[in-house]
Amino acid sequence: MTKLQFERMKDLPSTHLLGAGTTLCAGCGGLQALKEIYDVLGPKTVFVNAAGCMTLLSVYPFTPFQGSWLYTSMASAPAGAQGLRDGFDILKSKGQLSAAEDLEVVVLTGDGAASGIGLSATSGAIDRGLDFIYLCYDNEGYGNTGQQTSPETPHGARTATDAVAMGFPGNKKDLFAIWAANRPAYVATVVGCEPLDLSRKIAKAHDLKGPRLIIALSPCPTGWGYDPKDTVEIGRLAVKCGIWPLKEYVDGKVTHTLRPGSRWPVEKYLKTQRRFAHLFEPRRDDKILWEIQDRVDRYWTAVEELEGGVG
Ligand code: SF4
Repeated sequence: MTKLQFERMKDLPSTHLLGAGTTLCAGCGGLQALKEIYDVLGPKTVFVNAAGCMTLLSVYPFTPFQGSWLYTSMASAPAGAQGLRDGFDILKSKGQLSAAEDLEVVVLTGDGAASGIGLSATSGAIDRGLDFIYLCYDNEGYGNTGQQTSPETPHGARTATDAVAMGFPGNKKDLFAIWAANRPAYVATVVGCEPLDLSRKIAKAHDLKGPRLIIALSPCPTGWGYDPKDTVEIGRLAVKCGIWPLKEYVDGKVTHTLRPGSRWPVEKYLKTQRRFAHLFEPRRDDKILWEIQDRVDRYWTAVEELEGGVG
């Protein structure tokens, strides 16, 4: 499998390895990304699912996964992945499992586990050079328990635990940079509404060995406060406004894969979601709005200096 396989939308697989009718919220952006990713990875995939929204996918005796799925606590998914990887490798060394029967081990986790509760366990797995894909669906909060603030909550967003006037006073943690600093095999950001970019990155990750991170922005109608029908539009706005840069890290180099030609103001994105409504009503909060826009502007100025003008 190579990224060259996916040049047009009609090249994308439509195997639907993830069944319909799950218990997740209607319009879940994380589920959209997972469905696309699973189809690219193929049926020889085993998911190690840290506690979070996606653990509601498999409720015994029902499962939407065509292949295997293992549930772990929030911080234990990398350990579960290590056990599976070691088990497969031992069986292969004994001739009891052929290369064709081997499975890709994929940790499936939300941003709370990826950037907070489970980060030290993940760091250990990277240090050991564990051969696995780590898939983080980033809905910028602890969605499964009512959208409390997570390390990935953006500046100014209201959550169940930051319901104060200005919203979350901190800034979203940069999980991409944390992983890249450890020089793993691959790191990429994706979003379900850009399936070609997503599929090329998943195919590339699948072809590599070692620790590989995929961070999928996961628009969340329940936690962010918008109509489920708008998930695709909100994902597109995140890219178009420069809030969610689509990029990859490989061989020590970061490349932006889909750059917004003329960036739209972040307000277009913020106004679509109830978690930011207090920045506009009853009075505009120009200070917070400027801080959000300025952070995005400074990010892209740095990108243009490093990679050249927008192509
Ligand atoms: S809370 Fe958000 S991330 Fe979790 S299942 Fe619902 S829409 Fe998806």
